[in-house]
Amino acid sequence: MSQYYNPKRGAAWNYGGKNWKLSRSKIDLFCECPRCFYLDNKLGVKRPPGFPFNLNSAVDALLKKEFDVHRKAKTRHPLMEEYKINAIPFAHKDIDTWRENFEGVRVHHKPTGMIISGAIDDVWVGDNDELYVVDYKATSKDGEVTLDAEWQDGYKRQMEVYQWLLRQNGFKVSDTGYFVYANAVKDLDEFNDQLIFKTKIIQYDGNDSWIEKTLGDIHTCLNDERVPGSGDECDYCPYRETAGKTLQEKVLKKSIKPVSQKKVDKDNPSETGSLF
Ligand code: SF4
Repeated sequence: MSQYYNPKRGAAWNYGGKNWKLSRSKIDLFCECPRCFYLDNKLGVKRPPGFPFNLNSAVDALLKKEFDVHRKAKTRHPLMEEYKINAIPFAHKDIDTWRENFEGVRVHHKPTGMIISGAIDDVWVGDNDELYVVDYKATSKDGEVTLDAEWQDGYKRQMEVYQWLLRQNGFKVSDTGYFVYANAVKDLDEFNDQLIFKTKIIQYDGNDSWIEKTLGDIHTCLNDERVPGSGDECDYCPYRETAGKTLQEKVLKKSIKPVSQKKVDKDNPSETGSLF
């Protein structure tokens, strides 16, 4: 196990603990696989983290700075002009809190008693005080970026959760949201210490009608002592089960022995690694 991963979290961070809240990404995890969600939030066993997307974070940070200039000046960013979006970046006293990862836009959901939160990238406001949720994305792909791939459904749910959160906080929020999508071009002759991006705005019309029901399902799941089924599209549970059973059988038959990682015999590396 690496120094970056602690699979078992303290109880305070699990459902019912004082630090627990339902973040936007946890809602998405539930939509993806209720079992992984349950393991994480109820039993405190988190998935190993993915590799950090440092380049994407850099694009996010710079876009935020860029739009903040226009927030302060109450002007449209050139991209907003190009796409004829009649709005300016929203200057609200809580904008920095809304963008903080461990803060975000929050709401106490009375029917379930859960605190729901989500950290937005940006919000724009139109003439009629209607808000538009904005999300920054960065990628590098040939051709035009779109929202058409199945794996991008999570982006759409993300937008809809943010719209819902702001509505629950009393704001008038448009169904229309915008993805500011930066695409690093690869058809250049050299790197020369810089990435060149083509940035476009993709409009998405959200529909948050699924959220209340999903929150009810999540609440039911968290209060159930039974572990939910695994997701159809994921191969890790079948892998884990098969690996565990195979290792157990081998150990029971004494054909291999579990050895602590620290006691590995360098001269006999075949007998290596803790099994469970
Ligand atoms: S099926 Fe995949 S996502 Fe679901 S619990 Fe198993 S490992 Fe997690």
